[in-house]
Amino acid sequence: MANVNKRGGKTLHAEIAGGGFAGLTAATALAQRGWSVRLHEKGPELRAIGAGIYLWHNGLRVLEGINALEDVLNGSHTPPTYETRLHNVTVSRETFNGLPWRIMTRAHLHKALEKRAREAGVDIRTNSEVIWADPSGKVKLVSGEMFEADLVVGADGVGSKVRDSIGFEQDRWISTDGLIRLLVPRKKKELGHGEWDNTIDMWNFWPRVLRILYSPCNESELYLGLMAPANDPDGSRVPIHYDTWVAMFPFLEPVLAEAAKLPSARYDRYETTKLNEWSRGKVALVGDAAHAMCPALAQGAGCGMVNAFSLAIELEEVPDIEEALRSWEKRVRPITDRCQAISGDYAANRSLSKGNQFTAAALESARYDPTRRVYSW
Ligand SMILES: Cc1cc2nc3c(=O)[nH]c(=O)nc-3n(C[C@H](O)[C@H](O)[C@H](O)COP(=O)(O)OP(=O)(O)OC[C@H]3O[C@@H](n4cnc5c(N)ncnc54)[C@H](O)[C@@H]3O)c2cc1C
Repeated sequence: MANVNKRGGKTLHAEIAGGGFAGLTAATALAQRGWSVRLHEKGPELRAIGAGIYLWHNGLRVLEGINALEDVLNGSHTPPTYETRLHNVTVSRETFNGLPWRIMTRAHLHKALEKRAREAGVDIRTNSEVIWADPSGKVKLVSGEMFEADLVVGADGVGSKVRDSIGFEQDRWISTDGLIRLLVPRKKKELGHGEWDNTIDMWNFWPRVLRILYSPCNESELYLGLMAPANDPDGSRVPIHYDTWVAMFPFLEPVLAEAAKLPSARYDRYETTKLNEWSRGKVALVGDAAHAMCPALAQGAGCGMVNAFSLAIELEEVPDIEEALRSWEKRVRPITDRCQAISGDYAANRSLSKGNQFTAAALESARYDPTRRVYSW
Protein backbone atom coordinates (compact mmCIF):
# COMPACT_ATOMS: atom_id res chain seq x y z
CA MET A 1 0.00 0.00 0.00
CA ALA A 2 1.31 3.48 -0.87
CA ASN A 3 2.87 5.24 2.07
CA VAL A 4 0.93 8.46 1.57
CA ASN A 5 0.78 9.35 5.23
CA LYS A 6 3.95 11.44 5.20
CA ARG A 7 3.16 15.09 4.73
CA GLY A 8 6.10 17.45 4.79
CA GLY A 9 8.34 14.43 5.45
CA LYS A 10 6.57 13.70 8.76
CA THR A 11 4.72 10.51 9.63
CA LEU A 12 1.16 11.37 10.56
CA HIS A 13 -0.06 10.29 13.96
CA ALA A 14 -3.58 9.45 15.22
CA GLU A 15 -4.89 9.07 18.76
CA ILE A 16 -8.06 6.96 18.90
CA ALA A 17 -10.43 6.71 21.87
CA GLY A 18 -12.32 3.40 22.03
CA GLY A 19 -11.53 -0.19 21.11
CA GLY A 20 -14.97 -1.23 19.80
CA PHE A 21 -15.83 -2.14 16.22
CA ALA A 22 -15.54 1.46 14.96
CA GLY A 23 -12.29 2.31 16.77
CA LEU A 24 -10.54 -0.89 15.73
CA THR A 25 -11.62 -0.41 12.11
CA ALA A 26 -10.40 3.19 12.01
CA ALA A 27 -7.12 2.23 13.69
CA THR A 28 -6.43 -0.62 11.29
CA ALA A 29 -7.38 1.27 8.13
CA LEU A 30 -5.14 4.21 9.12
CA ALA A 31 -2.22 2.03 10.20
CA GLN A 32 -2.46 0.06 6.97
CA ARG A 33 -1.99 3.39 5.18
CA GLY A 34 1.19 4.17 7.08
CA TRP A 35 -0.15 6.25 9.99
CA SER A 36 1.28 5.76 13.44
CA VAL A 37 -1.78 4.93 15.57
CA ARG A 38 -2.32 4.71 19.32
CA LEU A 39 -5.66 3.33 20.47
CA HIS A 40 -6.94 3.90 24.01
CA GLU A 41 -9.44 1.48 25.54
CA LYS A 42 -10.76 2.39 28.95
CA GLY A 43 -11.49 -1.21 29.92
CA PRO A 44 -8.85 -3.59 31.31
CA GLU A 45 -8.97 -5.58 28.07
CA LEU A 46 -10.35 -5.32 24.56
CA ARG A 47 -13.67 -7.11 24.47
CA ALA A 48 -17.02 -6.97 22.78
CA ILE A 49 -20.16 -6.39 24.86
CA GLY A 50 -23.36 -8.09 23.73
CA ALA A 51 -24.07 -11.45 22.18
CA GLY A 52 -24.45 -11.72 18.42
CA ILE A 53 -24.36 -9.29 15.53
CA TYR A 54 -25.61 -9.03 11.96
CA LEU A 55 -23.26 -7.64 9.33
CA TRP A 56 -24.41 -6.82 5.84
CA HIS A 57 -22.68 -6.28 2.53
CA ASN A 58 -21.36 -2.83 3.59
CA GLY A 59 -19.68 -4.14 6.76
CA LEU A 60 -18.39 -7.24 4.97
CA ARG A 61 -16.79 -5.04 2.29
CA VAL A 62 -15.00 -3.11 5.05
CA LEU A 63 -13.70 -6.39 6.44
CA GLU A 64 -12.42 -7.26 2.99
CA GLY A 65 -10.87 -3.79 2.73
CA ILE A 66 -8.83 -4.32 5.90
CA ASN A 67 -8.12 -7.96 5.07
CA ALA A 68 -10.18 -9.45 7.91
CA LEU A 69 -13.02 -11.04 5.91
CA GLU A 70 -11.65 -14.58 5.79
CA ASP A 71 -11.28 -14.74 9.57
CA VAL A 72 -14.84 -13.50 10.08
CA LEU A 73 -16.43 -15.80 7.49
CA ASN A 74 -14.88 -18.81 9.23
CA GLY A 75 -17.12 -19.49 12.19
CA SER A 76 -20.09 -17.31 11.18
CA HIS A 77 -23.33 -18.08 9.37
CA THR A 78 -25.61 -16.82 6.60
CA PRO A 79 -29.15 -18.14 7.16
CA PRO A 80 -31.08 -19.40 4.13
CA THR A 81 -33.79 -16.79 4.80
CA TYR A 82 -34.86 -14.06 7.19
CA GLU A 83 -38.25 -15.35 8.23
CA THR A 84 -40.80 -13.16 10.00
CA ARG A 85 -43.62 -14.64 12.06
CA LEU A 86 -46.57 -12.77 13.51
CA HIS A 87 -48.49 -14.67 16.19
CA ASN A 88 -46.64 -17.79 15.07
CA VAL A 89 -47.73 -17.52 11.43
CA THR A 90 -45.01 -16.94 8.83
CA VAL A 91 -45.66 -13.63 7.06
CA SER A 92 -42.48 -13.38 4.98
CA ARG A 93 -39.22 -15.05 4.05
CA GLU A 94 -36.71 -12.53 2.74
CA THR A 95 -33.48 -13.27 0.91
CA PHE A 96 -32.60 -9.68 -0.07
CA ASN A 97 -31.99 -10.50 -3.76
CA GLY A 98 -28.75 -12.22 -2.88
CA LEU A 99 -27.30 -9.29 -0.92
CA PRO A 100 -24.58 -10.75 1.32
CA TRP A 101 -25.31 -10.79 5.07
CA ARG A 102 -23.87 -12.71 7.96
CA ILE A 103 -24.51 -13.43 11.64
CA MET A 104 -21.70 -14.02 14.13
CA THR A 105 -20.92 -13.65 17.77
CA ARG A 106 -19.65 -10.23 18.77
CA ALA A 107 -16.54 -11.81 20.25
CA HIS A 108 -15.77 -13.46 16.90
CA LEU A 109 -15.93 -10.16 14.99
CA HIS A 110 -14.06 -8.27 17.67
CA LYS A 111 -11.24 -10.83 17.79
CA ALA A 112 -10.75 -10.63 14.02
CA LEU A 113 -10.60 -6.82 14.15
CA GLU A 114 -8.18 -6.82 17.08
CA LYS A 115 -5.91 -9.29 15.26
CA ARG A 116 -5.77 -7.05 12.17
CA ALA A 117 -5.12 -3.94 14.27
CA ARG A 118 -2.19 -5.59 16.04
CA GLU A 119 -0.78 -6.92 12.76
CA ALA A 120 -1.01 -3.40 11.28
CA GLY A 121 1.12 -2.12 14.18
CA VAL A 122 -1.53 -0.23 16.17
CA ASP A 123 -0.29 0.60 19.68
CA ILE A 124 -3.21 -0.63 21.81
CA ARG A 125 -3.38 0.64 25.39
CA THR A 126 -5.94 -0.78 27.81
CA ASN A 127 -6.95 0.84 31.12
CA SER A 128 -6.48 4.05 29.18
CA GLU A 129 -9.51 6.32 29.36
CA VAL A 130 -9.65 9.47 27.28
CA ILE A 131 -11.45 12.16 29.25
CA TRP A 132 -10.97 15.23 27.09
CA ALA A 133 -10.09 16.19 23.55
CA ASP A 134 -9.57 19.45 21.74
CA PRO A 135 -10.10 20.38 18.06
CA SER A 136 -6.40 21.31 17.86
CA GLY A 137 -5.58 17.57 18.17
CA LYS A 138 -4.88 17.13 21.88
CA VAL A 139 -6.25 14.37 24.11
CA LYS A 140 -6.04 13.98 27.86
CA LEU A 141 -6.24 10.66 29.72
CA VAL A 142 -7.72 9.98 33.13
CA SER A 143 -4.13 9.39 34.29
CA GLY A 144 -3.35 13.04 33.49
CA GLU A 145 -1.15 12.22 30.46
CA MET A 146 -1.63 14.46 27.40
CA PHE A 147 -0.92 13.54 23.78
CA GLU A 148 -0.94 15.57 20.61
CA ALA A 149 -1.88 14.18 17.20
CA ASP A 150 -2.58 15.10 13.60
CA LEU A 151 -5.93 13.35 14.00
CA VAL A 152 -8.08 12.42 16.99
CA VAL A 153 -10.80 9.82 16.49
CA GLY A 154 -13.61 9.64 19.03
CA ALA A 155 -14.83 6.05 18.78
CA ASP A 156 -15.77 5.89 22.43
CA GLY A 157 -19.38 4.85 22.02
CA VAL A 158 -22.72 6.39 22.85
CA GLY A 159 -21.42 8.10 26.03
CA SER A 160 -18.41 9.60 24.19
CA LYS A 161 -16.21 11.84 26.32
CA VAL A 162 -14.36 13.03 23.25
CA ARG A 163 -17.68 14.32 21.84
CA ASP A 164 -19.00 15.75 25.08
CA SER A 165 -15.75 17.45 26.16
CA ILE A 166 -15.67 19.31 22.84
CA GLY A 167 -19.35 20.18 23.13
CA PHE A 168 -20.85 18.97 19.86
CA GLU A 169 -24.52 19.96 19.66
CA GLN A 170 -26.62 16.85 19.96
CA ASP A 171 -30.07 15.36 20.27
CA ARG A 172 -30.29 12.09 22.19
CA TRP A 173 -33.29 9.94 22.93
CA ILE A 174 -34.12 6.47 24.17
CA SER A 175 -36.62 3.88 22.93
CA THR A 176 -39.65 2.53 24.78
CA ASP A 177 -38.73 -1.07 23.86
CA GLY A 178 -35.53 -2.86 24.79
CA LEU A 179 -33.76 -6.14 24.26
CA ILE A 180 -32.14 -8.86 26.32
CA ARG A 181 -29.30 -10.30 24.26
CA LEU A 182 -28.02 -13.79 24.99
CA LEU A 183 -25.82 -16.48 23.50
CA VAL A 184 -27.02 -20.03 24.11
CA PRO A 185 -26.21 -23.46 22.65
CA ARG A 186 -28.06 -24.20 19.37
CA LYS A 187 -29.91 -27.29 20.70
CA LYS A 188 -31.08 -28.06 17.16
CA LYS A 189 -31.94 -31.67 17.93
CA GLU A 190 -33.98 -30.73 20.99
CA LEU A 191 -35.87 -28.07 19.04
CA GLY A 192 -37.10 -30.85 16.76
CA HIS A 193 -38.46 -30.49 13.25
CA GLY A 194 -38.12 -26.96 11.81
CA GLU A 195 -35.98 -24.63 9.74
CA TRP A 196 -33.67 -23.77 12.60
CA ASP A 197 -30.88 -22.44 10.37
CA ASN A 198 -33.06 -19.45 9.43
CA THR A 199 -33.20 -16.14 11.17
CA ILE A 200 -36.68 -16.24 12.68
CA ASP A 201 -38.11 -12.93 13.82
CA MET A 202 -41.08 -13.87 16.00
CA TRP A 203 -43.55 -11.16 17.02
CA ASN A 204 -46.48 -11.39 19.40
CA PHE A 205 -48.76 -8.51 20.36
CA TRP A 206 -51.31 -10.43 22.38
CA PRO A 207 -51.77 -10.99 25.29
CA ARG A 208 -48.60 -8.89 25.65
CA VAL A 209 -45.91 -7.46 23.38
CA LEU A 210 -42.96 -9.87 23.22
CA ARG A 211 -40.62 -10.62 20.34
CA ILE A 212 -37.80 -13.11 19.94
CA LEU A 213 -35.19 -12.63 17.26
CA TYR A 214 -33.74 -16.11 16.75
CA SER A 215 -30.31 -15.83 15.06
CA PRO A 216 -27.94 -18.77 14.54
CA CYS A 217 -24.30 -17.58 14.65
CA ASN A 218 -22.58 -20.84 13.72
CA GLU A 219 -23.05 -24.60 14.28
CA SER A 220 -22.93 -24.35 18.06
CA GLU A 221 -24.00 -20.85 19.13
CA LEU A 222 -27.39 -19.19 18.93
CA TYR A 223 -28.02 -15.49 19.48
CA LEU A 224 -31.38 -14.75 21.08
CA GLY A 225 -32.73 -11.23 21.19
CA LEU A 226 -35.67 -11.05 23.60
CA MET A 227 -37.58 -7.81 23.08
CA ALA A 228 -40.10 -6.37 25.52
CA PRO A 229 -41.37 -2.88 26.36
CA ALA A 230 -39.49 -1.27 29.23
CA ASN A 231 -42.74 -0.97 31.20
CA ASP A 232 -43.27 -4.76 31.20
CA PRO A 233 -41.55 -5.88 34.43
CA ASP A 234 -41.59 -9.60 33.59
CA GLY A 235 -40.58 -9.19 29.95
CA SER A 236 -37.68 -6.88 30.76
CA ARG A 237 -36.52 -8.81 33.81
CA VAL A 238 -33.01 -10.33 33.96
CA PRO A 239 -32.18 -13.16 34.41
CA ILE A 240 -35.11 -13.81 32.07
CA HIS A 241 -38.51 -14.68 33.52
CA TYR A 242 -38.69 -18.18 32.10
CA ASP A 243 -42.47 -18.67 32.52
CA THR A 244 -43.30 -15.45 30.70
CA TRP A 245 -41.20 -16.33 27.66
CA VAL A 246 -42.09 -20.03 27.49
CA ALA A 247 -45.81 -19.25 27.74
CA MET A 248 -45.54 -17.22 24.53
CA PHE A 249 -42.88 -19.26 22.69
CA PRO A 250 -43.33 -22.87 23.96
CA PHE A 251 -41.58 -24.40 20.92
CA LEU A 252 -38.34 -22.60 21.97
CA GLU A 253 -38.35 -24.18 25.43
CA PRO A 254 -34.96 -25.97 25.07
CA VAL A 255 -33.11 -22.74 24.28
CA LEU A 256 -35.13 -20.58 26.70
CA ALA A 257 -34.21 -23.01 29.47
CA GLU A 258 -30.54 -22.31 28.63
CA ALA A 259 -31.23 -18.56 28.50
CA ALA A 260 -32.80 -18.64 31.97
CA LYS A 261 -29.54 -20.03 33.38
CA LEU A 262 -27.56 -16.92 32.38
CA PRO A 263 -27.32 -14.59 35.40
CA SER A 264 -25.33 -11.85 33.69
CA ALA A 265 -27.93 -10.99 31.03
CA ARG A 266 -28.71 -7.29 30.50
CA TYR A 267 -31.84 -5.51 29.31
CA ASP A 268 -30.84 -2.59 27.04
CA ARG A 269 -33.03 0.11 25.58
CA TYR A 270 -31.94 1.63 22.28
CA GLU A 271 -30.25 5.00 22.30
CA THR A 272 -30.22 7.40 19.37
CA THR A 273 -27.69 10.21 18.99
CA LYS A 274 -27.89 12.86 16.31
CA LEU A 275 -25.19 15.52 16.05
CA ASN A 276 -25.02 18.77 14.13
CA GLU A 277 -21.56 17.76 12.86
CA TRP A 278 -19.26 14.75 13.10
CA SER A 279 -15.95 16.58 13.10
CA ARG A 280 -14.38 19.68 14.48
CA GLY A 281 -10.83 20.76 13.66
CA LYS A 282 -8.69 17.63 13.81
CA VAL A 283 -11.27 15.54 15.68
CA ALA A 284 -13.59 13.06 13.95
CA LEU A 285 -16.32 11.04 15.64
CA VAL A 286 -17.13 7.56 14.36
CA GLY A 287 -19.57 4.82 15.35
CA ASP A 288 -22.06 5.26 18.18
CA ALA A 289 -20.26 8.39 19.37
CA ALA A 290 -21.56 10.06 16.20
CA HIS A 291 -24.74 8.19 15.28
CA ALA A 292 -26.05 5.61 17.76
CA MET A 293 -29.23 4.20 16.24
CA CYS A 294 -32.07 1.78 16.96
CA PRO A 295 -31.10 -1.73 15.90
CA ALA A 296 -34.17 -2.48 13.71
CA LEU A 297 -32.05 -2.58 10.55
CA ALA A 298 -29.01 -4.03 12.38
CA GLN A 299 -26.74 -1.35 10.91
CA GLY A 300 -25.20 0.58 13.84
CA ALA A 301 -21.90 -1.25 13.77
CA GLY A 302 -21.99 -1.69 9.99
CA CYS A 303 -22.37 2.06 9.39
CA GLY A 304 -19.74 2.78 12.05
CA MET A 305 -17.26 0.49 10.34
CA VAL A 306 -18.02 1.96 6.91
CA ASN A 307 -17.52 5.48 8.21
CA ALA A 308 -14.30 4.57 10.03
CA PHE A 309 -12.89 2.89 6.92
CA SER A 310 -14.03 5.75 4.66
CA LEU A 311 -12.29 8.24 6.94
CA ALA A 312 -8.92 6.58 6.29
CA ILE A 313 -9.55 6.62 2.52
CA GLU A 314 -10.55 10.30 2.53
CA LEU A 315 -7.40 11.19 4.48
CA GLU A 316 -5.37 9.36 1.88
CA GLU A 317 -6.88 11.48 -0.88
CA VAL A 318 -7.27 14.95 0.61
CA PRO A 319 -3.98 16.46 1.84
CA ASP A 320 -5.40 18.93 4.38
CA ILE A 321 -6.72 17.04 7.42
CA GLU A 322 -9.52 19.39 8.43
CA GLU A 323 -10.70 19.61 4.84
CA ALA A 324 -10.56 15.79 4.57
CA LEU A 325 -12.79 15.46 7.64
CA ARG A 326 -15.34 17.83 6.16
CA SER A 327 -15.42 16.06 2.78
CA TRP A 328 -15.57 12.66 4.51
CA GLU A 329 -18.67 13.68 6.47
CA LYS A 330 -20.29 15.13 3.37
CA ARG A 331 -19.72 11.88 1.49
CA VAL A 332 -20.80 9.25 4.03
CA ARG A 333 -23.15 10.97 6.43
CA PRO A 334 -26.33 11.10 4.30
CA ILE A 335 -26.36 7.30 3.98
CA THR A 336 -26.05 6.85 7.75
CA ASP A 337 -28.63 9.56 8.46
CA ARG A 338 -31.22 7.88 6.24
CA CYS A 339 -30.50 4.49 7.80
CA GLN A 340 -30.79 5.94 11.30
CA ALA A 341 -34.13 7.56 10.42
CA ILE A 342 -35.67 4.40 8.96
CA SER A 343 -34.32 2.26 11.78
CA GLY A 344 -35.78 4.65 14.36
CA ASP A 345 -39.13 4.73 12.59
CA TYR A 346 -39.24 0.92 12.32
CA ALA A 347 -38.41 0.52 16.00
CA ALA A 348 -41.00 3.09 17.12
CA ASN A 349 -43.74 1.47 15.02
CA ARG A 350 -42.55 -2.14 15.43
CA SER A 351 -42.78 -2.27 11.64
CA LEU A 352 -40.67 -5.40 11.17
CA SER A 353 -43.61 -7.42 12.52
CA LYS A 354 -45.39 -6.88 9.18
CA GLY A 355 -42.74 -8.80 7.25
CA ASN A 356 -41.15 -7.82 3.93
CA GLN A 357 -39.82 -4.59 5.44
CA PHE A 358 -36.29 -4.86 4.02
CA THR A 359 -37.20 -2.61 1.12
CA ALA A 360 -34.67 -0.99 -1.21
CA ALA A 361 -34.69 2.13 0.99
CA ALA A 362 -34.25 0.11 4.17
CA LEU A 363 -31.31 -1.75 2.61
CA GLU A 364 -29.62 1.36 1.17
CA SER A 365 -26.76 1.45 3.67
CA ALA A 366 -26.35 -2.34 3.42
CA ARG A 367 -25.97 -2.08 -0.37
CA TYR A 368 -23.19 0.51 -0.16
CA ASP A 369 -19.68 -0.66 -0.96
CA PRO A 370 -17.22 1.79 0.66
CA THR A 371 -14.21 0.22 -1.05
CA ARG A 372 -15.56 1.27 -4.47
CA ARG A 373 -17.99 3.99 -3.34
CA VAL A 374 -20.86 2.44 -5.27
CA TYR A 375 -24.11 0.73 -4.43
CA SER A 376 -24.06 -2.95 -5.26
CA TRP A 377 -27.27 -4.96 -5.54
C1 LIG B 1 -29.83 -4.41 20.97
C2 LIG B 1 -28.84 -4.00 19.93
C3 LIG B 1 -28.60 -4.80 18.83
C4 LIG B 1 -27.71 -4.39 17.83
N1 LIG B 1 -27.51 -5.18 16.74
C5 LIG B 1 -26.68 -4.77 15.76
C6 LIG B 1 -26.46 -5.58 14.61
O1 LIG B 1 -26.96 -6.70 14.51
N2 LIG B 1 -25.65 -5.09 13.63
C7 LIG B 1 -25.05 -3.86 13.72
O2 LIG B 1 -24.33 -3.47 12.79
N3 LIG B 1 -25.22 -3.10 14.81
C8 LIG B 1 -26.01 -3.53 15.83
N4 LIG B 1 -26.17 -2.77 16.94
C9 LIG B 1 -25.41 -1.51 17.06
C10 LIG B 1 -23.98 -1.80 17.49
O3 LIG B 1 -23.97 -2.60 18.64
C11 LIG B 1 -23.26 -0.50 17.77
O4 LIG B 1 -23.53 0.44 16.77
C12 LIG B 1 -21.75 -0.74 17.83
O5 LIG B 1 -21.41 -1.70 18.79
C13 LIG B 1 -21.05 0.57 18.13
O6 LIG B 1 -19.67 0.35 18.06
P1 LIG B 1 -18.67 1.50 18.53
O7 LIG B 1 -17.31 0.96 18.30
O8 LIG B 1 -19.05 2.79 17.93
O9 LIG B 1 -18.97 1.69 20.09
P2 LIG B 1 -18.85 0.66 21.30
O10 LIG B 1 -19.15 -0.72 20.85
O11 LIG B 1 -19.67 1.24 22.38
O12 LIG B 1 -17.32 0.70 21.69
C14 LIG B 1 -16.78 1.79 22.38
C15 LIG B 1 -15.50 1.32 23.06
O13 LIG B 1 -14.86 2.46 23.63
C16 LIG B 1 -14.53 2.20 24.99
N5 LIG B 1 -14.60 3.50 25.65
C17 LIG B 1 -15.71 4.18 26.05
N6 LIG B 1 -15.37 5.38 26.54
C18 LIG B 1 -14.02 5.48 26.45
C19 LIG B 1 -13.09 6.48 26.77
N7 LIG B 1 -13.50 7.65 27.30
N8 LIG B 1 -11.78 6.26 26.55
C20 LIG B 1 -11.35 5.09 26.01
N9 LIG B 1 -12.20 4.08 25.68
C21 LIG B 1 -13.52 4.28 25.89
C22 LIG B 1 -15.58 1.20 25.46
O14 LIG B 1 -15.11 0.47 26.58
C23 LIG B 1 -15.75 0.34 24.20
O15 LIG B 1 -14.79 -0.68 24.13
C24 LIG B 1 -27.05 -3.16 17.95
C25 LIG B 1 -27.26 -2.35 19.07
C26 LIG B 1 -28.15 -2.76 20.06
C27 LIG B 1 -28.37 -1.87 21.26
